[in-house]
Amino acid sequence: MFHVIGLGKSGRAAVRLALARGASVVAIDQNENLGLLEQDPLFEKHSGGLRTILGHFDGEILASVNRVVVSPGVHLEKYGLSSLWHSGKEVISELDFAAEILPKSIKILAVTGTNGKSTVVTYAGQMLNQLGIETFVGGNLGNPLSEAALQCLASSSLGHKFQVAVVEVSSYQMEIPNKYFCPSVAAVLNLTPDHLERHKTMRNYAIAKSRIFSNMTGAKLAILPSDNHFLFDAISLHKNDLNLAWIGNYPGVKIDIEEKIARLEVPALRIDSRLKFDAMKVIGTHNYYNAAVAALSIVGLGVGVDVEAIGSTIEKLRAPLHRMQTVCKDSQGITWVNDSKATNVDATYAGLTALKGKKSVILLGGIAKVLDGQESIGFERLVELLNYHRCVITFGSSGALIQRTLSDGGLRIPCIQATNLVEAVHFARRKAKHGDAIVLSPGCTSFDEFRDFEHRGMVFQELAFS
Ligand code: ADP
Repeated sequence: MFHVIGLGKSGRAAVRLALARGASVVAIDQNENLGLLEQDPLFEKHSGGLRTILGHFDGEILASVNRVVVSPGVHLEKYGLSSLWHSGKEVISELDFAAEILPKSIKILAVTGTNGKSTVVTYAGQMLNQLGIETFVGGNLGNPLSEAALQCLASSSLGHKFQVAVVEVSSYQMEIPNKYFCPSVAAVLNLTPDHLERHKTMRNYAIAKSRIFSNMTGAKLAILPSDNHFLFDAISLHKNDLNLAWIGNYPGVKIDIEEKIARLEVPALRIDSRLKFDAMKVIGTHNYYNAAVAALSIVGLGVGVDVEAIGSTIEKLRAPLHRMQTVCKDSQGITWVNDSKATNVDATYAGLTALKGKKSVILLGGIAKVLDGQESIGFERLVELLNYHRCVITFGSSGALIQRTLSDGGLRIPCIQATNLVEAVHFARRKAKHGDAIVLSPGCTSFDEFRDFEHRGMVFQELAFS
């Protein structure tokens, strides 16, 4: 009997996986309006029993159950899950639940970090697929890992479906240590203040992120930034004999931006190669890092792919939607860029750097995140880059605070405050000149006005075409 808590995409996939394993399942969600799973055709064919509990649920009941599978969206303080885990009860993440039955022959490439996870996972998937390697791409992005496990169960008589699983992992999936999720290669791309409403401190956040390495034994490849002391301290808690590769130092990967080349060097794995970016279509030097980390990770998997082969895939790499995505060039000669996925200041910083001096009207706003134990929202960091542009429009619930922060930080270009995105776009049109770009790279979450960043990006795109 499994209790699955949280019935979003991951939880639902875990329920289906548990049922496919012949188990009975109690599916739990606090949202009363979800609808019972047993009435959903997707859950019809199951040999075990299924019962959905919606709304109030008494966490005390969990003390007497066998296994609890927790979705990433569920905070461990809820239903006493954290104490249950500490008391030795089997409380596992959806990721770990899926990994338990994923065939061991499938090599896992796991990616986490504050920014760039989806991009690196997407690039790695595109590279592997171009090179003819059967790859599952998912996790926190797109399809949950339980979907891969389900597909493997369904095809077990035909042999295993995938050679590689490229998995995006969020810190929420690593709040408790994973037991079965054991990557062959794992990367933490970067770590800057984010999600601190849940992790509370940067130290906790780094500990959660570094758990991506915790089950890796046998000198497997661990990739992490060379300049982050939180991660460095956190990784020293693990006792495994990892091959460390640094982003920004050797052994690892260094980028020469002028030459558009990455140098990949990991002597322990006999890697010493160059990756050229001349043919790359996606914009922004952060994407050189993203592609280089994807390449190094793939080589580290040992699936017979080398850097030279990966070089041939660079031209066809495409970033996921809502990340510095060129929407259109309108009849006024203005280019519209959608970077709605920039939900924190560091992502916006990367986006502004990618504009390479193209004069732009920059839209910043939504709900700004307060940084670790400080009152600052960190937007002053953007001032130097913003000063090269046409003007800034702030909007949403943090619009006034952002405007004040930029002005205190020495902003010299005009800054206009709008109430919402529609008004921000209206002002942006009036300010932009022929040849400029209008860029939505908000540096904030979207929940004051939108369902999520995708909804915000779609509305921006519609406004661009209107
Ligand atoms: P995640 O999945 O970690 O949220 P995404 O790949 O979706 O990351 O990108 C989120 C935002 O961060 C986008 O605005 C994107 O342009 C920016 N970004 C992508 N890669 C990096 C990077 N290596 N460093 C900083 N920002 C990045």
